[in-house]
Amino acid sequence: MPELYLDGAWTSARASARREIRCPADGTLVAQVDEADAEDTEAAIGAAHRAFHEGSWPATSSRGRGDLLLRVADLLERDTDQVARMESLDTGKRLVESEYDVADVVSVFRHYGRVAAEEAGRVVDTGNPDVVSRIVHEPVGVCGLITPWNYPLLQVSWKVAPCLAAGSTFVLKPSELTPHSAIHLMRLLEEAGLPAGVGNLVLGAGATAGAPLSTDPRVDLVSFTGGLQTGRNIMAAAAATVKKVALELGGKNPNVVFADADLEVALDFALTAVFLHSGQVCSAGARLLVEESIHDEFVDALVARAERIRLGGPFDDKAETGPLTSAAHREKVEAYVARGLAEGAVLRCGGSRPADPGLADGFYYLPTILDSCTSSMSVTQDESFGPVLTIETFRDEDDAVAIANDSIYGLAGAVWTQDAGKGQRVAHRLRMGTVWINDYHPYVPQAEWGGYKQSGIGRELGAAGLDEYRETKHVWHNIRPAVQHWFEE
Ligand code: NAD
Repeated sequence: MPELYLDGAWTSARASARREIRCPADGTLVAQVDEADAEDTEAAIGAAHRAFHEGSWPATSSRGRGDLLLRVADLLERDTDQVARMESLDTGKRLVESEYDVADVVSVFRHYGRVAAEEAGRVVDTGNPDVVSRIVHEPVGVCGLITPWNYPLLQVSWKVAPCLAAGSTFVLKPSELTPHSAIHLMRLLEEAGLPAGVGNLVLGAGATAGAPLSTDPRVDLVSFTGGLQTGRNIMAAAAATVKKVALELGGKNPNVVFADADLEVALDFALTAVFLHSGQVCSAGARLLVEESIHDEFVDALVARAERIRLGGPFDDKAETGPLTSAAHREKVEAYVARGLAEGAVLRCGGSRPADPGLADGFYYLPTILDSCTSSMSVTQDESFGPVLTIETFRDEDDAVAIANDSIYGLAGAVWTQDAGKGQRVAHRLRMGTVWINDYHPYVPQAEWGGYKQSGIGRELGAAGLDEYRETKHVWHNIRPAVQHWFEE
């Protein structure tokens, strides 16, 4: 069955190109899928443009749009096992993690299904009783949605659900490495009754299938989640047609542990902060800042635990984390660690591929801890997007804040302390879109997600995540028009 979804029909790539999708856990062939080129994407943009300007979707009541999203949530819940399995095969992540991800996706669709109809603009008090002045929200138009491979369907849902709730139409281009859950989602949107052309799917490489989404004048908004350099390229390409641009980029997220924290809990979370999904998480706590006085005790215990982390494939019940996504990505992580060692970091554990011959066909890399790091090193500044933790020490609160903020990124961070005042003060001073106090990683669809500084532009989730897909219009109605006599007759 063809895998591109254009104007309500499943279609093969025009050039008949196909791409092999391989499981990162063992290199086995998962499937071959259609590989679109720029022409396919232009056709998809045409369909989304027609659906927006001539179709019924933007004028469908917000309640009706919300109901469709709620139906999609139910269908996804029905298909959880199937979707989780395809997500694990594409990413190599443990099945249980994929199951959590699908549950999160269901929550995102439910959330936007419910809020779609909640807010209908506002009336402005102009001080003039002869004027009715209203602020109304309208869909932004045709949206290009581009997503990465680490949380394939979750990242898609953060865009597709608010886009549809707002009444906009879209062309989705998921990561070329992990297309299956996006294909399935389009089937569910079709089953739920989405009109033809409102949602379109193209699969393929960013430079070919993705590029028109930031250059084509018919696209009003390009919403991108992925790496910093790609984000810069997309923003530059979008400038020619002054598209709205929403960017969710990388992070180098500090996890700040004070000596007065509950150290047993902080240690446990420091491991999941960085090694969950082998560090392939935009908000990974890959930069541990630990107060000088507890450094030795805390880091020794952390190393002992990290050395025991069990690697394995998606269906290995004993595995605690999985492989990196590709051979090329593992090579990047290896080069990153080599750079850190050359700069003077001290390797405390990991730093190589696992010796286990059972893992040799996958793209595994051992959980790695680099000690004695400073903020002048590339390893504390650059995102590795792998299972690598750097360790720095700080003297006091001011020092911790200064080091944590010494980054071009500002996506997320955490602070661990039993002093509530200190926790709040530090959270307030960290220049990041999300700060956890005595926790790491949780998020909810009701709360905004996004980055300060070069971690991005705009917000996903929450009320702001819906506003990304809407325009704001001021309607001024003079109900007693009269001649002004400004110019003489
Ligand atoms: P990437 O930038 O390589 O690719 C992301 C997507 O962009 C893919 O679909 C790719 O095909 C596409 N793309 C590449 N070049 C393009 C172009 N010129 N035009 C249009 N599309 C193009 O990123 P990745 O390796 O897939 O993902 C990892 C990165 O994503 C990390 O840096 C991570 O921090 C970031 N990320 C951020 C968040 C967040 O919420 N801030 C969430 C997940 C991942």
